[in-house]
Amino acid sequence: MRSPLSSRWARSTIYRLVAIAWIVTAHPPHATAQQSPASERDANAAPVSVMLLTGQSSIYHDWRKSSRIIERILEDAGRFEVDVVMTPSQGEPMTGFAPTWSAYDVVVMDYDGDDWPEPVRRSFVEYVSSGGGLVLVHAADNAFPGWPEFQAMAAVGGWRGRDETAGPMLRWREGRQVIETGSGTAQHPPQHDFRIETRSLDHPVMQGLPAIWMHANDELYSQLRGPARNVTILATARAEPPLPNATGEHEPMLMAIRFGEGRVFHTTLGHVGPRDELPVATMSSVGFIVTLQRGTEWAATGRVAQPVPDDFPGPGSPVLRDFR
Ligand code: ZN
Repeated sequence: MRSPLSSRWARSTIYRLVAIAWIVTAHPPHATAQQSPASERDANAAPVSVMLLTGQSSIYHDWRKSSRIIERILEDAGRFEVDVVMTPSQGEPMTGFAPTWSAYDVVVMDYDGDDWPEPVRRSFVEYVSSGGGLVLVHAADNAFPGWPEFQAMAAVGGWRGRDETAGPMLRWREGRQVIETGSGTAQHPPQHDFRIETRSLDHPVMQGLPAIWMHANDELYSQLRGPARNVTILATARAEPPLPNATGEHEPMLMAIRFGEGRVFHTTLGHVGPRDELPVATMSSVGFIVTLQRGTEWAATGRVAQPVPDDFPGPGSPVLRDFR
């Protein structure tokens, strides 16, 4: 006896076949060659291949949670094919860790841990300098303080002993980015919602974004230091005293860095701590989500086809989506 389900299926299939037959007969072949709108064409573009590189973090972060959310955010864009590549665990031998960088358009790095073997470092530098894309998320700029090429890719970074010898700080003052050679090491105020100011409105990552928008409950990374060369500040934020550890300076939140032929998108946003429960506000914040998606596409291709979504926040309050 035919089950109700299969008879429903048969009925709907017949309707579909009838509908297809009608479309085929109603439209001569030349009528189907309509121009699709730009957004549709871009959505149909070849997917961008992403290596999400993770596997270690300091005691202040949790790569298991953060990398899972980053993967979801990238997949949600409908623009990326994401492979997660994990390093060996902290303290374990790096034997066998030899990623095939060149198989990917862009490496999204959510990693802050043990140094890599020299051949891996060399192949990574070769990959980025010859045109590979790189995205650094939050604590990834804490990694590898003793690796000059990595410092150049990040432009600035924090903690792990970075002091004046690591290079200057990078700030925004009086309408332009400046190098600050004074003293001070990385710090951040307690997590709070803060205002982000777009500084490079014409950069592909930022085109169409509001001049001022709110971001949710993050660590406002301050006084990062490094070579600070070949870098364009895309967006800044400022924390004012008496908030503890507030510098009162416009600190870089989003940066674009040129390393040889390679493009680097550096977001200092996206803190996920070991005690955070999913969903985490920092990475559910639409400003973080959208700039990560756009920055990853730009690092991979040099352009951004993704439209700015309607729920992008303005100066009022942060907007959250549920990623877990
Ligand atoms: Zn953090």
